[in-house]
Amino acid sequence: MSGSVSVPRSRAGAILTIDLDAIVQNWRDMQSRAPGAEASAVVKADAYGLGAIPVSQALHRAGCKTFCVAHIEEGITLRAALPDVRIFVLNGTFPGTEADLAAHALIPSLSSWPQVEGWVAFNRTSGAQAPCALQVDTGMTRLGLNQHQAETIANDAELMQALNPCLIMSHFACADEPSHPLNQLQISSFAKFRQLFPTLPGSLAQSAGTFLGGEALNDMTRPGIALYGGNPLPPATNPMRQVAKLSARIVQIQSVDTPQTVGYGASYAVPKPGRLATVSLGYADGFLRAIGNCLPEHRICATVADRYRAPLVGRISMDLSTFDISDVPEDTLQVGDTLDVIGKFATIDDLATAGQTIPYEVLTALGPRFHRIYLNGSAL
Ligand SMILES: *Cc1c(COP(=O)(O)O)cnc(C)c1O
Repeated sequence: MSGSVSVPRSRAGAILTIDLDAIVQNWRDMQSRAPGAEASAVVKADAYGLGAIPVSQALHRAGCKTFCVAHIEEGITLRAALPDVRIFVLNGTFPGTEADLAAHALIPSLSSWPQVEGWVAFNRTSGAQAPCALQVDTGMTRLGLNQHQAETIANDAELMQALNPCLIMSHFACADEPSHPLNQLQISSFAKFRQLFPTLPGSLAQSAGTFLGGEALNDMTRPGIALYGGNPLPPATNPMRQVAKLSARIVQIQSVDTPQTVGYGASYAVPKPGRLATVSLGYADGFLRAIGNCLPEHRICATVADRYRAPLVGRISMDLSTFDISDVPEDTLQVGDTLDVIGKFATIDDLATAGQTIPYEVLTALGPRFHRIYLNGSAL
């Protein structure tokens, strides 16, 4: 997992600081928005790039008992760090992986008939009685059993016993648009599925779904992006705490004047005399190239010394990008110092807007070349 990789600080091109306290606060916030339900934590894709093990350990210390990953391998890695928690594997099984899942006490979310058959066969031949979750399709049409398949399971006591489901779950397609009609349709559809399995706890809401409240909540929520500081309901004000700071180190500082241009394609013309800093951060680090080609009103500003703005200029290269530090007092920055590219003046949502993407992609794109610092990991 890239989360465990940390380049020595003196040699690193950028420093990624992850505030574990903020993640815990965000999880508690999500828990308080669904008082009757259990808040799990979605830590798939290495906790959205921020490090599944340190993130999960901090949340576990704060009382989180259930975690969701996407891949079996992610579950096995997490199990080694947290022996006593519940771990759901959202992508379910691949043929022949049932014994691996059971051996690590991982609960697959089964969404297709072959996955159901494989789990039943495994439990029957091994006598393992290993639990699973049933994922049903309420309208997203990505993963999930249909109504007929769910009825077939519910009406067959022997199949139910061999399958041993402990949760029924589904996923909202449009929860980030609270007034989208599909939300209510999915809530109703899920309620219908749940009637087939009256004793099974249910889970429907991810981060944005949790904000729908009421019938969306069910027995367990599955927040991901909200824990990591992404705005669950843009364009509303982001209620979550920022978690990640990315500080890129300066390789060169130079004075410039007209008619110079900056970077590939000579796309940025220097408008007046000033100073530029080129930092060791590029699209190979997840500083998405599209961010450099954004509309002027979405232009990203790095933060210097917590107070000065340094606009990104020119195209982002693979390993480098350039910022205008003309507004930063001359003696503030030297080669080797840092600009916060994710920080006070540029959140992960700002980077997503500039790059025409979503904060999920901004976070999961973050690469392995950083020095990583985890704040407050043991102080909880
Ligand atoms: C990724 C995922 C989540 C978390 O979604 P967020 O929008 O990040 O809160 C929850 N449930 C499932 C099935 C997912 O795939």
